[in-house]
Amino acid sequence: MRVLSGIQPTGNLHLGNYLGAIRNWVRMQDEMDSESQCFFFLADMHSITVHETREQRLRNVREMAAALIAAGIDPDRSVLFNQARVPAHAELAWLLNGTARIGWLNRMTQFKDKAGKDREGKSVGLFVYPVLQAADVLLYQATHVPVGEDQKQHLELARDIAAKFNTDFGVDLFTIPDPIIPKETARIMSLRDGASKMSKSDPSDMSRINLTDDDDTIVQKIRKAKTDPEPLPETAAGLEDRAEAKNLVGIFASFTGGTPDSVCAQFVGQGFGAFKPALAEVLVEALRPIRTRFEALKDDEAALDAILIKGAEKAATAAEPTLRAAYGAVGLMR
Ligand code: ATP
Ligand code: MG
Repeated sequence: MRVLSGIQPTGNLHLGNYLGAIRNWVRMQDEMDSESQCFFFLADMHSITVHETREQRLRNVREMAAALIAAGIDPDRSVLFNQARVPAHAELAWLLNGTARIGWLNRMTQFKDKAGKDREGKSVGLFVYPVLQAADVLLYQATHVPVGEDQKQHLELARDIAAKFNTDFGVDLFTIPDPIIPKETARIMSLRDGASKMSKSDPSDMSRINLTDDDDTIVQKIRKAKTDPEPLPETAAGLEDRAEAKNLVGIFASFTGGTPDSVCAQFVGQGFGAFKPALAEVLVEALRPIRTRFEALKDDEAALDAILIKGAEKAATAAEPTLRAAYGAVGLMR
């Protein structure tokens, strides 16, 4: 079993990333046997699709590394690194550009969401981003890729690229990876709009809970979260047309080890005036230890760089045979 997943170091880690992906990463890391290995990386090469100053980008990479360690990723057990330190990602992505089809990329809903009406004005990088993502996964022969639901389509694309490459060149080179998507927390929604996912790139900070938010900020954001005037129903089936309410109940359940049904049973008949403070308290308690560890780690640049450099060395060694074989299959090298 080889587990691999990445996160963009743009802005803060938020509750969607944590419940949809990172918490799963930590679980998989903790359940690894000696035959298996986990690779977790900061997708800093992907981050060039968002304009930042160089100082900000350098800081973002270190902060995201600190956040992942604070959330439970152990760099001694998992390979933790940033993409830019392992040039094999960019090299394989270029080779895969020969395999990926424009029509496949045209169907990617994330590009459509992120480009909006300004498609022609977006960077080429934003469009071909899923090819780099395919390279990230295929380079390590990953078998399992824990992601949130929004990444399912990109992973299917990686599978298509892998299969086409193998067929076109008559090789059995790339392992076809499987997505691991958590059931209940696959898609955490924005606190301001139950129809769009919680996201780092949402301009409104009130739309998300960041793992670095202090206690008061968490309480405020939950108090201001959009809801409806109805009381909580008896079972989760009663939340079907109430996206915002459903989202908050799901978050409560995921931190208390309950289910949306058990949370409804606990609060049945009560309004959000009663539910929100309870949810805020659960979140404050759950996130405080992560934030405390993050604060202690985030400014130790030397230690964070050393961790990432060591991780990149391990990653580069693991990637090298696949990259060589890909050059060989294409006929660019013997
Ligand atoms: P961006 O808006 O910059 O794309 P993001 O918030 O989508 O940022 P990513 O770095 O793209 O974060 O994704 C990191 C991981 O978090 C991925 O596995 C993704 O599926 C997961 N994820 C992101 N948002 C959510 C969400 N709202 N609910 C569940 N999982 C999520
Ligand atoms: Mg994203």
